[in-house]
Amino acid sequence: MARRISIFGATGSIGQSTIDLIARDLNAYDVVAVTGGQNVSRLAADAIKVNAQVAVTADESRFSDLKDALSGTDIEVAAGREALIEAACRPADWVMSAIVGAAGLEPGLKALETGAVLALANKESLVCAGPLIMRTAQAHGTEILPVDSEHSAVFQAMIGEDLSAVERVIITASGGAFRDWPIEDLAKATPAQAATHPNWDMGQRITIDSASMFNKALELIETKEYFGISPDKIETVVHPESMIHALVGFNDGALMAHVGAPDMRHAIGFALHYPTRKPLPVERLDLVKLGQMTFRNPCETRWPALRLAREVMMAGGLMGAVFNAAKERALDAFIQERITFPRMAGVVEDVLSDLSTYEGHNPAEITLDKVAEADHLARIRADEIMAR
Ligand code: NDP
Ligand code: MG
Repeated sequence: MARRISIFGATGSIGQSTIDLIARDLNAYDVVAVTGGQNVSRLAADAIKVNAQVAVTADESRFSDLKDALSGTDIEVAAGREALIEAACRPADWVMSAIVGAAGLEPGLKALETGAVLALANKESLVCAGPLIMRTAQAHGTEILPVDSEHSAVFQAMIGEDLSAVERVIITASGGAFRDWPIEDLAKATPAQAATHPNWDMGQRITIDSASMFNKALELIETKEYFGISPDKIETVVHPESMIHALVGFNDGALMAHVGAPDMRHAIGFALHYPTRKPLPVERLDLVKLGQMTFRNPCETRWPALRLAREVMMAGGLMGAVFNAAKERALDAFIQERITFPRMAGVVEDVLSDLSTYEGHNPAEITLDKVAEADHLARIRADEIMAR
């Protein structure tokens, strides 16, 4: 029987790589829902390509465009936040969560509540609501498979291992667009410069977050929340070639690394076929051609987001939701050229200190409403700080 799958954020970078993989073997899949935002022409074309039951744009005002683009097909059309949530409630076996930002949390939770396996690219879900999303998966007898390349790498290195034998987890970072810039030049960096990545081809927001290392900061928190590893065992290292995605160090000194080309189809394909492995259309590395792999210390003066991530991990509670929301608003402001590149970290730091009341909430009591409240107040506070 064909596997029922849905793709949230189908029009984005991860969504497109997911569609690329499933389109190679369409008989194996019965596509339930594909969702997007502004890009309704791509959404319509993909809905036809994979013969989806329903195509949903999160933007209500794009409903008629999507309807026109799908006229003459029997694909259902829907729009708006409620339609997105309704699509997440439709039974499926495997759901890709690849909406960008905190907006991806609720659809993922709803999918878990149906018992679907959640392939999780949306790291913000774990950062904002780690305990909630992990316990929802457990309560509904299903699982979350990490799609972030580093976390897929850690997951693969841990197969068959005992968590108690893990001494440390090392998350690698490319260093992004400004890795080699003099620190004093960062104030002049433009959004277009920040949105170019040396190795990975990703969405605009995560690419800028790679330059600031806010992406790595989110990933450190994601590691803590997903694997249940204490913050003092989670490290990061700058690895400009992006060939090693993460390493797990065990108590006998062994370091297990996942090595592969910087192509997200590695991690997406692993989650799609888990627990088996199937051939994937990714580059096979020629190590001799690669020649060398290098590593550098992550400088917290250049990338203060790493220090903030440690503080957030130690604080616990709802500080992950505060951190992510403040970061999202600061990133919006940088993209709109209202603040400089280094100012983003300053804004986030100020919001964290102003909203420290969200520290230490009991993880068992974290609900979607509480996450939404912390997220909302952090956005307001970030806007106030930036308006000063
Ligand atoms: P993109 O910006 O390329 O795509 C985002 C997707 O979400 C698009 O389909 C977009 O629709 C949709 N979307 C945007 N805003 C909303 C909203 N408010 N409600 C519903 N849908 C929305 O992002 P990426 O694919 O790069 O990243 C997706 C997620 O995966 C992020 O959480 C990111 O951190 C994570 N990730 C990405 C990696 C990568 O290689 N790209 C690697 C590891 C993790 P539209 O474009 O039609 O407006
Ligand atoms: Mg990553």
